[in-house]
Amino acid sequence: SSVWASVQQAPADKILGLTVLYNKDTNPSKINLGVGAYRDNDGKPWILPSVVAAEKVLSQTEENKEYVPIVGSPNFNSLIKKFLYGASASGQSLVDSGRVVTSQGISGTGALKVLAEFTKSFYPIRKVLVPNPTWANHIAILEKSGLETEPYRYYDYESNGLDVTGLLEDLRKAQEGSVILLHACCHNPTGVDPTLEQWDEILEVVSQKKLLPILDMAYQGFRTGDPIEDLAILYKFCDLVAAGKLDNFMLSQSFAKNMGLYGERVGSLSIVTSGEEESVRVKSQLEKVIRPIYSSPPSHGSKLVEIVLSNPEIYAQWLKDVKVMNDRLVDMRALLYDKLKNTYKNPLNWEHLLQQQGMFCYTGLSPEQVSSLIDKSVYLTGDGRISIAGIYEKNVDYLAKAIHEVTT
Ligand code: PLP
Repeated sequence: SSVWASVQQAPADKILGLTVLYNKDTNPSKINLGVGAYRDNDGKPWILPSVVAAEKVLSQTEENKEYVPIVGSPNFNSLIKKFLYGASASGQSLVDSGRVVTSQGISGTGALKVLAEFTKSFYPIRKVLVPNPTWANHIAILEKSGLETEPYRYYDYESNGLDVTGLLEDLRKAQEGSVILLHACCHNPTGVDPTLEQWDEILEVVSQKKLLPILDMAYQGFRTGDPIEDLAILYKFCDLVAAGKLDNFMLSQSFAKNMGLYGERVGSLSIVTSGEEESVRVKSQLEKVIRPIYSSPPSHGSKLVEIVLSNPEIYAQWLKDVKVMNDRLVDMRALLYDKLKNTYKNPLNWEHLLQQQGMFCYTGLSPEQVSSLIDKSVYLTGDGRISIAGIYEKNVDYLAKAIHEVTT
């Protein structure tokens, strides 16, 4: 008999499970609001024009498909440092003083996994404070890496906004020195971000309690439409280090959404150290963490990123591409709001649809309302999260009508 005979069926992944149901549905008006991937105004995936241009350059210039170093190529890492930290005086000074160790990541997930493993190996405190709610995979990654997670209050179900008082209270009473996971922008699943002023308050407590931040940046560019402007939050961390109020932080960053390189699996991680000599030691151990997991990262996506970040024309095109995606998401929020309030005269307050940012909106719909929506062929997760990218001009009316019907 098989040694796996006693393996139990794992529960279906919430989002992938929805896609299976969606694919089976024969209703021509069906809508998939589960998956967090950009779609154009015809509901189709989009290869960014900047990426098409980079592919062209790569096909003409690629010399080999050799392994890249364990932490990614030196060119990738130097471009990443410039891209992420270069426009901030305190960020650039951290880089110049050799305090930033970077590595290519297998997109954001891989970067987080490596940071979690590194933290477990070299940081004495196991506890990671995570927002409630957070991306489900955060908890899985951290706990599978031997860390413990503890939720801090984040979302206010009354206002569909940030529970900043609860958040600050929870951080103040947390164990000193805990690790804290923070979403840089476009919080998943709620779409609710602190304002820049609220970030200052949060960082003040992070500093007082000597928390060790992991900043997760999966949606850079989807807050303001400009990837560099969205680095304002990262720069706050750099400023805090420069002011001597924070010794270290870590960053995971992904090009999945903002370059549309989902399946290419490219992103980066950064670890801020106290100086050059410590960075050399940290990098050597980072290599020891990565090597037995995947040996070295994939190179196609990272070569595309290198071209986008280093070719001025393609880079300018990329900034335009991000803006196109973000503008469409903002437009769809406004259109859905308009349909709900003006066409269907829905009595609920839908202001949060306009205020929340990025790819997702936490609608405030109850599990029962979600289930009624699924009966109408509108697919979304039980927590009421919708992916704005799944909305486009041709389906917004069907969607608004369905939401109106299940809420009145
Ligand atoms: N972090 C958050 C909050 C996310 O929502 C995601 C993707 O959905 C990721 C990280 C990582 O995504 P990827 O591994 O595709 O870069």
